[in-house]
Amino acid sequence: MRVKVILACTDCKERNYSTTKNKKTNPDRIEFKKYCPKCTSHTLHKETK
Ligand SMILES: [Zn+2]
Repeated sequence: MRVKVILACTDCKERNYSTTKNKKTNPDRIEFKKYCPKCTSHTLHKETK
């Protein structure tokens, strides 16, 4: 049930992280606060396709 997702910075749209999620427990778009090397700070990263 686990699917691969890519996390993209919401500020610069850079795709910085890839992870997996459980579609059953996380049907919606996930978002994490992560470090973006392009923004050189912690920004919100959202699931993208
Ligand atoms: Zn960024």
